[in-house]
Amino acid sequence: MTTKLDVPISRRRFVASASSATVLALLGPRKLFAQKEGLVQTARRTAAAETVTVQKLRGNVSVLMGGGGNIAVLTGRDGKLLVDAGFAGARPKITDALASLSPDPIKQLINSHWHFDHTDGNEWLHSAGAAILAHTNTRKHLSTTTRVEGWNFTFPPAPAGAIPGAVFDDERTLQLNGTRIALEHYAPAHTDSDISVHFTDADIFHLADTFWNGYYPFIDYSTGGSIDGMIRATEANLTKVTGEMIVIPGHGEVADRTQLVFYRDLLAGTREKVAALKKQGKSLDEIVAAKLTAATDAKWGSGFRSPKDFIADVFQGV
Ligand SMILES: [Zn+2]
Repeated sequence: MTTKLDVPISRRRFVASASSATVLALLGPRKLFAQKEGLVQTARRTAAAETVTVQKLRGNVSVLMGGGGNIAVLTGRDGKLLVDAGFAGARPKITDALASLSPDPIKQLINSHWHFDHTDGNEWLHSAGAAILAHTNTRKHLSTTTRVEGWNFTFPPAPAGAIPGAVFDDERTLQLNGTRIALEHYAPAHTDSDISVHFTDADIFHLADTFWNGYYPFIDYSTGGSIDGMIRATEANLTKVTGEMIVIPGHGEVADRTQLVFYRDLLAGTREKVAALKKQGKSLDEIVAAKLTAATDAKWGSGFRSPKDFIADVFQGV
């Protein structure tokens, strides 16, 4: 059922976008095949089979988990506001999860950054009534052919309905459902398009993919990310996150300040160790073999990025 529904849609979209001579020339048949087998295609193909859970947080804010990055949802009579859209293939389960929260229509979608596990559902949510707001660079990357080396994948431009209709550069504040929602752009960290979303009344803070709770983070050097940017963003988050705040990571369980401190120490500690060994002339393979992150590998290395991937991401930036 999943395969029948999902694969033809992805393929159709890809073929349609790749029909321009430029993109075809860029990819070539070998790369087309490689992409079909890669992480991005697999994630999209299996999205419909993932379980989407609903967790009520505080006030009228909840989080949906599964089917892509974490999705924050604000409900109320002005209509639902979502932070992130998940995979397109998760649409049926996300629809059910949203309906279980309230009958309010979907009005607003905010993209925390441009990555496909947060924006793949943009098109259907827009068709369901959501205006899309994001950082300028999210619109830029969704509008053009964008290569992500870390995923060995070249994304064609997203369909027109998936492109954010409104963008901002530094900060933006919204008022919806009696709640203030403060958006702020990070200096380049995970990508160059990351924003934080603070529901100020409920004091709930969505940190985009600057924070992965319990999984080694992906760092997208192809669109502006770096390990140093990730550490700087986490330090900036820690200046704002209080003991009472509820913290939503881009991936992983809902957290508080304690987990964010642990994450900062993990990133900063690993960066220092990798940098020291690289300075001594050690190769990436030698540094991976040193098992610098052995204490956290069983838990943190079981997700999107293996321990080796994480070390490679850090190595690239020091
Ligand atoms: Zn991401």
